[in-house]
Amino acid sequence: MHAAADGGLARIRVPGGRLTASQLRELADAATACGTGVIELTSRANVQVRGLGEESGFAARMAAAGLLPSLTHERIRNILASPLTGCDAAGTLDVGPLVADLDRRLCARPALAELPGRFLFALDDGRGDVAWLDPDAAILPTGAQETALILAGADSGLRVPLASAVAALLAAAEAFLAELAVRDVHAWRIGELPGGVEPVATRVRIALETGSAGPPRLVPPAERMRAEPPPAAGGPVGAVGRPGGGVALGVAVPLGRLTSAQAELLAELAAGGEVRLTPWRGVVLPGLDRAGLPRAVARLADAGLVTDPESPWIGVTACTGRPGCAKSLADVQADAARATAPGAEPTAGTPGTIAPRVADSPRTGTLPVHWAGCDRRCGRPRGRVADVVATGAGYRLDLDGRSLTCADIEQTTAALAAVRGET
Ligand code: SF4
Repeated sequence: MHAAADGGLARIRVPGGRLTASQLRELADAATACGTGVIELTSRANVQVRGLGEESGFAARMAAAGLLPSLTHERIRNILASPLTGCDAAGTLDVGPLVADLDRRLCARPALAELPGRFLFALDDGRGDVAWLDPDAAILPTGAQETALILAGADSGLRVPLASAVAALLAAAEAFLAELAVRDVHAWRIGELPGGVEPVATRVRIALETGSAGPPRLVPPAERMRAEPPPAAGGPVGAVGRPGGGVALGVAVPLGRLTSAQAELLAELAAGGEVRLTPWRGVVLPGLDRAGLPRAVARLADAGLVTDPESPWIGVTACTGRPGCAKSLADVQADAARATAPGAEPTAGTPGTIAPRVADSPRTGTLPVHWAGCDRRCGRPRGRVADVVATGAGYRLDLDGRSLTCADIEQTTAALAAVRGET
């Protein structure tokens, strides 16, 4: 729990973004009973709940729901996984079982409790969607029985037997701590280590050499993979699946803020009993019945959730803003909602909660937009982004090194429509 301007803020790690339907229901119920009733989705596929009192009992409820399995290791259970893994043919490996295995083995190693809370693992199923999202240590399959180890956003050159994939990630975390100790330096991430990632890769190779699955291979620099550009803003949105099988439905959550009612609906629709949070602040519902898909899509739209990849909400993000952040010069969440879907207004009684009207706005282009209450621009996505920064007297729109000052929300909305349409 952290102190924020609007009360206690709890962040709950959700390895692989995987929640059971009953956990999501309990989260929604506890967010309403103890906090603002909004579940914020983060770029690490974790969740946050705001407005909590010290004696709210929120943590005890989360622990009872199985969402706080390790008090010693809670901060470091940061694990991304491809959200659509196992749902379609785009990935070559179902990394679902590896998520649970990595989480369990991570929590079982007392020394790893010393990892910085910013350290991030990623399990990519071969589609390349999370391996390049700036994790410290990631696996990316390169064949049926082999996976590449990605360190700090670069191919380390190590090719690890699939059976050793989790061991390689744990070895990378231990190698990072060992490098910090021998150099007597402080760093939050592998990429911040003086001297680069090579010493970490060397330690991992040595650690795995005696593994029962066989030693890793080291490929020369010319054969190493290059970092891929980040996937499209918004992550998976819409239905995907295998012919003749069930479908997985990607659902975008406007501004990554899930109301308790929306969360209850997602839990109800989760046919497989599982809901997957994505690093793009959205949700995937795996295992849906094709026949029931139109009805599910209609109910989600009625609830203000988005399943149309052409929606103007795709790619729009915002920092906390007022009232949750004392530094903010504006209620950026409400302003972002007004600019994205005219007619969307904050819901009375729940500060910052928006009621989007998805159908009201035409698609205005694919350029990601990030709204921020001050120049720190917390939560800004990587890559080319139109920044909308509160100035105290309106907003400033920054794009490609150029700035435009907008005196009010109407001017800002018009300017954004122009740049998103690239006119
Ligand atoms: S960008 Fe500024 S206003 Fe927004 S959350 Fe960060 S510090 Fe607060």
